[in-house]
Amino acid sequence: MTPEEFRRAGHAVVDWIADYWATLPERPVTSAAPPGTVVAALPDGPPERGEPVEAVLADLDTLVTPHLTHWQHPGFFGYFPANTSGPSVLGDLVSSGLGVQGMLWATGPACTELETAMLDWLADLLDLPKRFRSAGAGGGVIQDSASSATLVATLVAVHRASGGRWREGGVDRRYRAYTSTQGHSSIEKAARIAGLGADGVRVVEVDPETLAMSPAALRAAVEADRADGVVPTIVVATVGTTSTTAVDPLPEIGAICAEYGIFLHVDAAYAGAATVCPELRSGHAGLEYADSYCFDPHKWLLTGFDCDAFWVADRGELIEALTVLPEYLRNAATESGAVIDYRDWQVPLGRRFRALKLWFVLRWYGVEGLRAHIRSGVALAARFADRVRADDRFELAAPHPYSLVCFRLRADDAVNAELLARVNASGRVHLTHTRVAGRHTLRLAVGSPHTTKAHVDEAWTLLSAAADTLLPH
Ligand SMILES: *Cc1c(COP(=O)(O)O)cnc(C)c1O
Repeated sequence: MTPEEFRRAGHAVVDWIADYWATLPERPVTSAAPPGTVVAALPDGPPERGEPVEAVLADLDTLVTPHLTHWQHPGFFGYFPANTSGPSVLGDLVSSGLGVQGMLWATGPACTELETAMLDWLADLLDLPKRFRSAGAGGGVIQDSASSATLVATLVAVHRASGGRWREGGVDRRYRAYTSTQGHSSIEKAARIAGLGADGVRVVEVDPETLAMSPAALRAAVEADRADGVVPTIVVATVGTTSTTAVDPLPEIGAICAEYGIFLHVDAAYAGAATVCPELRSGHAGLEYADSYCFDPHKWLLTGFDCDAFWVADRGELIEALTVLPEYLRNAATESGAVIDYRDWQVPLGRRFRALKLWFVLRWYGVEGLRAHIRSGVALAARFADRVRADDRFELAAPHPYSLVCFRLRADDAVNAELLARVNASGRVHLTHTRVAGRHTLRLAVGSPHTTKAHVDEAWTLLSAAADTLLPH
């Protein structure tokens, strides 16, 4: 493909994406096709002779988009949002066009330095503790996901708890991670990968009302483990749990970690984005105790997947844990000690130029634009929660500090499951579910920049109408 051919095809592709976005509201949010539909419609192999991009675009319309869950749809309220945006797509396009591999500073100096600067910008934007800034002992890096951030934090924590012996000798004692019953599944996965074994994670009880980790239960678990010869290694506290956006009390948890020398990682994958707004920062109280922190701009900050922002307070410890320097990567810049080589801050060696999409997003929206986006989501969720509160047939199942509302009909699990199925079958909205205190609970997460009052009200109207037919009068 010559640059001129690329220019023509590229315009067609950008037009196609713009048309896709413009027509999203009329599409059903999810596909009803059975498994195997797409595979069955595809040819068995690649064409013998090359085809024009227009042929692929035509097939996108017939084979791909009808069989998607449309995450950017204004009626998409499932899981957590995975925003993208025009500037994010354009930044990613530039990254693809440059095709730079940023494993070392020397393999693309601007790729590394723009990333360092963007993570410092973001740290300021979220008002993170000073120790996470690159000007001090800490610094930030883009990981592919919050799961990778948790894994890296766990590896550094084991490195620290073993006095550095882990690097050479593997896991030589029983090390343990702690999170609440509401902690994300990636914590268990990280502990397994790190070699902590099947009982590597101790799950700490939560307050039954707030669903936040109980500091007393954490302390009891840590003390019991120490008495047992286990090394309490890392606590993963969550600001905005996946199930209900519960917020673990960092001041108390942090003090326990400090007392026992336990690494504290704070996982704010979804809710971290909210803290671009000063009035939504209360969950960050106590963050000065944290050794590491992450959030996903790819969830709620208009930046396309994948982009997890991860900070550590002590980058020296991180690099010590993960660095491996083969001969073929040796270079003068690395040896000078004056540069960051981000390959030492993550599991893979290679890395894309992901800072570009952040740069495009931050500059397009500005601080005001990002705050307006977050505030809109929080206000729409509050509007929906008001509807739930005002209707005796329904109840809220948890507090809603951000843009997720957990609610249910005052009825048994089967009725609630049926309510969810009926509303989603409308094709107009898509909600998902969780369990709160053992009970089937619906989740409505607002996050798309295209979601308006009308879409949230439509979700409510559909729920209310389905409740009419499900509940006896
Ligand atoms: C979504 C989520 C994760 C996992 O995020 P990925 O970036 O997809 O790995 C981890 N923790 C919490 C609290 C989450 O909400």
